[in-house]
Amino acid sequence: MALMAACVATEANLLPPPAPASESDELEEAIDLLNAVVNTNHPSKKMDGFLAQDQSLRVLLDTLWSIRESALALANGDLSVKITGKGFLAGALKTLQSHFKHLTWQTQRVAAGDFTQRVDFMGEFAIAFNAMAERLASSVEALKQKEAELTAKNQELVKEIKNRLRVEKDLRISEERYREMAITDHLTGLYNRRHFYVLAENELKRALRRGHSLALIMLDLDHFKKINDNYGHDVGDKVLAEVGRVLTSQVRSMDICARVGGEEFVLLLPETKSTKAVEVAERLRTAMANTCVADCGKMVNFTASLGVTSLDSERDQREEAPKGLLESIIKQADEALYASKKAGRNRVTAF
Ligand code: GH3
Ligand code: MG
Ligand code: MG
Repeated sequence: MALMAACVATEANLLPPPAPASESDELEEAIDLLNAVVNTNHPSKKMDGFLAQDQSLRVLLDTLWSIRESALALANGDLSVKITGKGFLAGALKTLQSHFKHLTWQTQRVAAGDFTQRVDFMGEFAIAFNAMAERLASSVEALKQKEAELTAKNQELVKEIKNRLRVEKDLRISEERYREMAITDHLTGLYNRRHFYVLAENELKRALRRGHSLALIMLDLDHFKKINDNYGHDVGDKVLAEVGRVLTSQVRSMDICARVGGEEFVLLLPETKSTKAVEVAERLRTAMANTCVADCGKMVNFTASLGVTSLDSERDQREEAPKGLLESIIKQADEALYASKKAGRNRVTAF
């Protein structure tokens, strides 16, 4: 065994020095080196031994290396990478880089709303990009159309709402006017007979409930027929309207004045005692006697006879007004009025 080892050692010592690499070995090593740069994930740029001396191989290796780095940067989205080198590969990479840059710009334009952008390079990608831009353009067009329709509809609605509001307002006004007309005597502007009864019943109930006094004055124009006969119906109407003005101006706002017949009027004075009511009636009589209506330069005078009655509720306080109480008060005032007529007209009589 020891002998055998000694023989091997001797044989090694006797081996000739390694022969210089042949041309085919050099070629094989260069191919391996270039292949590693092109095809492997972790290549080395190290050129050993005799390859290190080969300047043209070094240049080729550097070019390939630079193209590999640029391709990697592009793959990672770095469009600003500077691609050095000339020739087919570097040229192709430069073209790809410029396409990417242009696509990025076009995509930014689309993002800013310019859907006219079209790509006319890069095959399938161009088809997909153009389809997307066209679809966006038609969607936006459809949206604009819908928006225009909605705006028009909205304007119509606003117009209709304004119209309805105006109609409602007109309706409210005419309702108000009809309500007013239903309770008012058109010639004098005073309450009509029907509404007087509604208001008077309420006042009567209130007066009885609270123990307040209440007075009622009946008024009838004297010889009114003669005024019509002498001056005409129109002048008669003027006189009636004037009576309405005089009555309204001479009483409180809480007093209720109404025209209850052709030339007959009634006044209900809440919280008014008999003596005060007679004073008021006298004031009304005087005011009428001192008023005249002009007719073609002529002055038409008129007078009225009045009858006064009152309810002394302090003595007769109760929850409910007895049935027919209002009629009986009116009848009392009527009787007093008749007494005034009988006594010569243009006067006031208390019941
Ligand atoms: P007296 O003093 O007795 O009350 O006499 P008078 O003429 O006033 O009473 P009479 O009842 O005889 O006549 C009332 C007149 O009032 C008759 C009618 O033509 C008139 N008259 C009633 N309503 C109206 C009206 O709305 N306009 C006019 N102009 N006259 C009317
Ligand atoms: Mg009369
Ligand atoms: Mg009369």
